[in-house]
Amino acid sequence: MEVVTRFAPSPTGYLHIGGARTAIFNYLFAKKHNGKYLVRIEDTDQKRSTSEAVKAIHDGLNWLKINTNEKIVYQSSRLNSHTKIAYELLDKGCAYKCYLSNDELQDLRIKSRENGIPIKSPWRNKSVNKPDKEFVIRLKMPSEGTTVINDIVQGEISVQNEILDDMVILRSDKTPTYMLSSVVDDYEMAVTHIIRGDDHLNNAFRQIQIIKYMNWKEPYYAHIPLIHGTDGSKLSKRHGATNVFEYHKMGYTSDAMFSYLLQLGWSSSNEDNYEYSKAVELFTLEKINKSPSKFDIKKLNNINSKFLNNMDVNEVYDLICKSFNLNLENTQKNRLKGLLPELLKRVNVYTEIRDDIEWIVNESFICTDNDHQKILNANLTILNEISLLLDSCSWTKDNINSTLKNYIINKNLKFKEIGYPLRLALTGKINSPDLVSVIYELGCTIVTNRLNYQY
Ligand code: GLU
Repeated sequence: MEVVTRFAPSPTGYLHIGGARTAIFNYLFAKKHNGKYLVRIEDTDQKRSTSEAVKAIHDGLNWLKINTNEKIVYQSSRLNSHTKIAYELLDKGCAYKCYLSNDELQDLRIKSRENGIPIKSPWRNKSVNKPDKEFVIRLKMPSEGTTVINDIVQGEISVQNEILDDMVILRSDKTPTYMLSSVVDDYEMAVTHIIRGDDHLNNAFRQIQIIKYMNWKEPYYAHIPLIHGTDGSKLSKRHGATNVFEYHKMGYTSDAMFSYLLQLGWSSSNEDNYEYSKAVELFTLEKINKSPSKFDIKKLNNINSKFLNNMDVNEVYDLICKSFNLNLENTQKNRLKGLLPELLKRVNVYTEIRDDIEWIVNESFICTDNDHQKILNANLTILNEISLLLDSCSWTKDNINSTLKNYIINKNLKFKEIGYPLRLALTGKINSPDLVSVIYELGCTIVTNRLNYQY
């Protein structure tokens, strides 16, 4: 059996963190079994589906490198197949035409709520044809027995069939409902494993009835617990961004996000740097936790910082240039690349170094803050003396380091007495990466110019 999974987002908004994680699980499971991972855009709700949302979903999937190589399926292009099945179910006597008016349906809903009974239309047992009247097609749910699902994550779960509503599968305007479309598509796309959020667990008990009536092979189900915020409530905007692509804009790398989302509700070991190939190798559905996981930005920051520091400098450089819209000349580029490893040690996300770009790339940068300029004026002698010494030292990190050290020994100073004004003069900042690296990468000309600047 070829494993086939699918990620089936409804394009009514951006790619949610929970959706992205579902997609990752589907992607990994298919890859692990050399199977197929499909993406189906469930866009049958014309009022709520937008092309912007479709694009946003693809942006998110592409960023995480988990878009499919197969043709993307748009559910709206398959309505005829769904409708055909609705009529087949009708012909088999597994579904019926329901002619209830809106008012009658309203009454039935109230009654069923009051009595705690499922909606079963009085048309269920009448095979009447009223050619001139509008109707919906409802599935005739079994009223006895139990439906059991052996969910890979949730274990064996069952419902008494008597509680199942006779759900609508075809609306009066002859459009299929999600409950029908999704099952028909899964069957026709030969999906073997349905991996999705456990908010769809109730749907599974209803959808499986269609599968049984049609004598189709039942898929395996894996319903994943939802993601919560750190306070234990369902993840929402008040916990931070829920749009996965926002994290790209914030300066997280896609590899770190992928690795973090994978671990969110899935545990294999205590590691947290899962790369794609390793994740494929280790992934199993059985290791998905049964209880909801908590989205923890601190952990994500931690992972992102690890990834940033392990990444090839050229790759981070490219990310930064794209994100800040930089187009640098070679000398500027070399300075930035040279300082990147030091800069990255101090941040969680690469956008945090935005403030550092100016002093690195702009040769004629000078410290502009009035208070800082006063400090620099008061330390002019120190700065000029150090500048002279640096100017005559051959340019290696070791030499720069010993020049500074010898200077403080000779002058009987503490390092911070030179470190503070040097930092301000060179970077305009109180905090900066390691000073020796800053001096080395800026180069002798820039350093001496900045140290001798008359404010
Ligand atoms: N389109 C549904 C959603 O976005 C998913 C349906 C499914 O996975 O079966 O929630």
